[in-house]
Amino acid sequence: MREYEVIIIGKGPAGLSAAIYTARANIKTLILGCDPKIAGDYAIDNYFGFHETISGKELIERGVAQASKFGAEILCDRVLSIHFDDSGKYIVKTERDEYKTCSIILATGVSRKKPDIPDYEKFDGKGISWCVSCDGFFFKDKSVLVAGEGNYGANQAIELTDYTSNVAICTLGKESTISADYRKRLKDLNIPVIEKSISKLIGDDVLKGVRFSDGEELKVDGIFIALGDASSTDFAKSLGIITEGNFIVVDKDMKTNAPGIFAAGDCTGGFLQIAVAVGAGAIAARSAISYVKESCRK
Ligand code: FAD
Repeated sequence: MREYEVIIIGKGPAGLSAAIYTARANIKTLILGCDPKIAGDYAIDNYFGFHETISGKELIERGVAQASKFGAEILCDRVLSIHFDDSGKYIVKTERDEYKTCSIILATGVSRKKPDIPDYEKFDGKGISWCVSCDGFFFKDKSVLVAGEGNYGANQAIELTDYTSNVAICTLGKESTISADYRKRLKDLNIPVIEKSISKLIGDDVLKGVRFSDGEELKVDGIFIALGDASSTDFAKSLGIITEGNFIVVDKDMKTNAPGIFAAGDCTGGFLQIAVAVGAGAIAARSAISYVKESCRK
């Protein structure tokens, strides 16, 4: 397994800015992330130093070139989960690989995931959960659904089989984007993928079941939400990092409450702008550099 001193999750302004600082300080740096939303044909008029207007695409390309120049490795891969292992390091699992690291900067941007399930808030914490490693245990031998259409959902469903063999995936009416490799693993574990939407949650105080759009009902004790890609708040939940709503809580040095884990940019909330994300990335990098020197290079 390849090991890095810092892994930065996110290739947006915050992640790239952080990588410029860490790589330039000779910290072995890996960025995991693909092009952010802003890397398109959007005119950026309010970023310092570009009076002639720069496109989001060019700004990100320049950031990639600069971080690479200082030695940061950049891979377009999606992180599915982060776990703390016995050696005191973090294991970052992606769609394609696994990496070990002593320090992480979360820079995954804002997460706007809300499941398209009527009245899901009513059962939040009473059957609806967002974190397999936090709540999977409470569904031992019970019937659970994972709401998600991609590999993140597939991976959550596979992790749930540690607790119960009664697991299914529901894409909430979306077309599944689960890769062939994951589809095979789901098949081997008897995890069906249901491509229907949910029209009703059944239950009084706690979740008892779901009604699908075609009227069919299924008894379920729990639904784990795992839509799209995993976000910083998903990682935060499984690592015990404090969040406020959809945002990671950090101090002025961009430190979270978990040792060696920092966060920057839109995923921490506040003024969601490039200039702010770039500044926060630099601060997170400075904190990560100190952490690596003091705690990882022993
Ligand atoms: P992002 O830029 O959102 O980057 C997040 C990164 O995390 C991406 O690389 C993504 O692929 C990665 N990621 C997410 N989940 C995972 C995962 N599980 N595994 C691996 N990688 C993951 N701001 C301005 O200042 N000026 C503007 O003119 C402006 N215009 C905008 C126009 C549009 C259309 C949009 C959407 C935003 C605009 N913004 C603008 C806001 C600005 O884009 C954001 O504030 C900024 O990009 C935040 O940077 P970030 O690095 O925190 O997150």
